[in-house]
Amino acid sequence: MSLSRSASVCVYCGARPGRDPAFAAAATDLGTALAARGWRLVYGAGDVGLMGIVARSAQSAGGETFGVIPVHLMNMEVGKRDLTQFVVTETMHERKKVMFMNADAVVVMPGGAGTLDEFFEVLTWRQIGLHEKPIFLLDTNGYWQPLIALMDHLIAQGFADASLKDFVTLCADVPSLEEALRVALS
Ligand code: AMP
Repeated sequence: MSLSRSASVCVYCGARPGRDPAFAAAATDLGTALAARGWRLVYGAGDVGLMGIVARSAQSAGGETFGVIPVHLMNMEVGKRDLTQFVVTETMHERKKVMFMNADAVVVMPGGAGTLDEFFEVLTWRQIGLHEKPIFLLDTNGYWQPLIALMDHLIAQGFADASLKDFVTLCADVPSLEEALRVALS
């Protein structure tokens, strides 16, 4: 992928910090790495959980940030108005569309049902050929292993082609994710 502008990385992640402190540490490292590489963070514009951590660390390292939040979550997810660009949408669907349209790659950090919703949307769009943007799972302390097992199960039971897993790159930690992004975005 060759871009005439700086690359944008969409990060899906939990609106909560999760139990394992390694998740927050990874969010801090990812925000810092994005800024250091000159890659713009695209995310859900919240100031809570891992979302807030990744955004604050990207900002404090001087990075560009682009956030998209639906109007009804402005209070619940503490809309972060001091981002480089802050977009308020009417609906959740618009939020996901604007985030995805403005990204060159997708990173899925540990998170909950919302993160999974976002992941499966871009995975299924990829599966039916609607895009070719790379998708990375940040597998901090093996967090996504049950998801990989579920994908294996879908394949084994004949509900997905084996190629489903080819659309996803699993990265054990932030340094390996950073290198995989560098290759994908160059
Ligand atoms: P969670 O992983 O559940 O903490 O959610 C992570 C983020 O996904 C939060 O910002 C949620 O608001 C967002 N989210 C949850 N469901 C949806 C949806 N259907 N469309 C767009 N964003 C969503």
